[in-house]
Amino acid sequence: MKKLFINIGQLVQVRPGNKPLRGKTMNKLPVIKNAYLITENHKILDFGKMSDMPVFNHKEVIDLQGKLMMPAWIDSHTHLVFAASRAGEFVDKINGLSYEEIALRGGGILNSAKKINNIDFDTLYRQSARLLTEIISYGTGAIEIKSGYGLNTEGELKMLRIIKKLKKNYKLPIKSTFLGAHAVPSEYKNDKKAYIELIINDMLPVIAQEKLADYIDVFCEKNYFTPEETNLILQAGARYGLKPKVHVNQFNSIGGIEAALNNKAVSVDHLEVMTENDYELLSCSDTIATVLPGCSFFINIPYAPVKK
Ligand SMILES: [Zn+2]
Repeated sequence: MKKLFINIGQLVQVRPGNKPLRGKTMNKLPVIKNAYLITENHKILDFGKMSDMPVFNHKEVIDLQGKLMMPAWIDSHTHLVFAASRAGEFVDKINGLSYEEIALRGGGILNSAKKINNIDFDTLYRQSARLLTEIISYGTGAIEIKSGYGLNTEGELKMLRIIKKLKKNYKLPIKSTFLGAHAVPSEYKNDKKAYIELIINDMLPVIAQEKLADYIDVFCEKNYFTPEETNLILQAGARYGLKPKVHVNQFNSIGGIEAALNNKAVSVDHLEVMTENDYELLSCSDTIATVLPGCSFFINIPYAPVKK
């Protein structure tokens, strides 16, 4: 069924094509005054000025009477499913500990993982659904949600099954990302290779079989996963059709962008620490640079050099 929207006062941020914008092309915000827009099965078919509108058949007409129409907020990087907040770490931070020191003490991601594995499915689902409802009320129209606080087969599957249930019960588009390689769990501290094998040989086949993920992610960072390990995990994901979205360059530039681009990543996320070589690589690719200013604000680290 076609839906025709007419008499749109201002149609904002609609442009032909689907390539990510680069450099100066981002300077311009397209606005069409007194516009129409037609959709079919939730996809935009055509748009333009009311005065240029062709005749459309078989449509439902919605008259906007001069109102503004713009895209909803698309949140492409979230960790919406979690058992308990990390607010307690503020005390560690006030006492002068760095993110890395908190993580090395078993705080941070590892601490969150312990909590995920101790909470039952229904409680975790209810908490996640409450948060999702809240962010929808703020204007989020599409969202990506990651696993990554399970760090064992059972915990990771639990998180991904919760995301799958959210997909089923909510109308907004939800994409799911498998982030088993978010950190190395303490029991594998001295045998990271075995944990990577667990991800590849135990978790991925079940995830693929139950269709639990759209993307695969790795935290490529010192004390987490190297570019070589990232490459191995992304390639394993690709064998099941999972596209990469990768955490890179949050604290150090260690070759994560290159590894992500070699695997045709949809996005590279964080980018607080960038080298000239990183800019060069990224500017020649179609991979989307995702920055997380909320994260910089929250953990008090430098912001990504967005202008550059
Ligand atoms: Zn993240």
